[in-house]
Amino acid sequence: MNETLETVFAHVIGRNPGEQEFHQAVREVLDSIGPALVRHPEYAEAKIIERICEPERQIIFRVPWEDDRGEVQINRGFRVEFNSALGPYKGGLRFHPSVYLGIVKFLGFEQIFKNALTGMPIGGGKGGSDFDPKGRSDREVMRFCQSFMIELYRHIGEYTDVPAGDIGVGGREIGYLFGQYKRITNRYESGVLTGKGLGYGGAQVRREATGYGTVFFAEEMLRVDGDSLDGKRVVVSGSGNVAIYAIEKAQQLGGNVVACSDSSGYLVDEKGIDLELLKQLKEVRRSRISDYAQVRPHARFVLGRNVWEVPGQIALPCATQNEISAEDATAMVANGCTVVVEGANMPTTPDAVRIFTQAGVRFAPGKAANAGGVAASALEMQQNATRDSWTFDYSEQRLQQIMQDIHARCFATAEEYGMPGNYVAGANIDGFRRVADAMLAHGLI
Ligand code: GLU
Repeated sequence: MNETLETVFAHVIGRNPGEQEFHQAVREVLDSIGPALVRHPEYAEAKIIERICEPERQIIFRVPWEDDRGEVQINRGFRVEFNSALGPYKGGLRFHPSVYLGIVKFLGFEQIFKNALTGMPIGGGKGGSDFDPKGRSDREVMRFCQSFMIELYRHIGEYTDVPAGDIGVGGREIGYLFGQYKRITNRYESGVLTGKGLGYGGAQVRREATGYGTVFFAEEMLRVDGDSLDGKRVVVSGSGNVAIYAIEKAQQLGGNVVACSDSSGYLVDEKGIDLELLKQLKEVRRSRISDYAQVRPHARFVLGRNVWEVPGQIALPCATQNEISAEDATAMVANGCTVVVEGANMPTTPDAVRIFTQAGVRFAPGKAANAGGVAASALEMQQNATRDSWTFDYSEQRLQQIMQDIHARCFATAEEYGMPGNYVAGANIDGFRRVADAMLAHGLI
């Protein structure tokens, strides 16, 4: 970072005390964009970076609801509308006990560049709550979602801000949120939320898109080296929506996915993860992956340990932020890992990224590699706007093309700036330039 960027960064820390994940996400972008600022002095003159680091609007609200025992519960809701230079704010809602303003801002900040990289007309935002859906009944989740929407509805709209899912928010939650929005506003405004069910305005491949897209990106990275996923040993972390569909696509492309995980430990199946069983456990029974080993005794569930100790050539971190530490990275390199592609948002700590880079491991940041989810959301908005619905195959082709384009852009930008193969620099510079150019065109707003 040069002196100007150091000053900007110090200012961001000072204005946003205690928001460590947000600081980390900002630092990562500022660390890469120096060369772009040298070529574009107009960005610094217009204080584009300072403006991008300050959300356009931040909303924090109370979410009171009643649990099944009749006890009143109070959670906190957030929506950070970060940047609308390229389109309506777009980004998911995360329901998880770890959610606080710093997490929402890190995710919203990443979303600005990710959405720009898709080349689609979407700005960046993110929201959520410290509500924990785990162990809650359907009715409790419904009451929570209804209360959350009673405040959120006034801030969102198909031309304003379009939320979707993230950790803890899947089809069930989007359904309850959409129903409540429709009831409050008396509008069947399909394009206000994405990730909807297929029967009421949802789009084919949206559910699969983040995981599939991550693997399409990995396949492109291998392809430029004359290689492919076929026959590779793959380790995936997580077992939620992103992980499940990353496993599915990796298996379809010939990868041997041997491990996945949840917050209690990891699962190894040397014969390859039985995806139908995993889906049954996670999507239908909403149970834990430890149950897998009871049904398939040859598999091993390892309690309380980290999945990154399982050797694999390709690593797809699909769980959550900062899940790969420096020690994990060192072990992965020693165990023969050569490619790391982030399905989750910022799962690799900065120290781990450095270790991968020094060891020559090819590394793709989530804001490029996991952009398939939000890209499919933009396709859902497009279908909603025209009251159309596309087939699965066509939607998947569109997704694959988008991921190939994102890969090509990151690759070409890294080359243009003399850093061949550096996907972090390529993604940050290309995403930043697109947003910065639109902001310049809009004047000082
Ligand atoms: N939560 C997803 C992400 O991190 C998807 C957001 C969306 O579809 O709006 O990109």
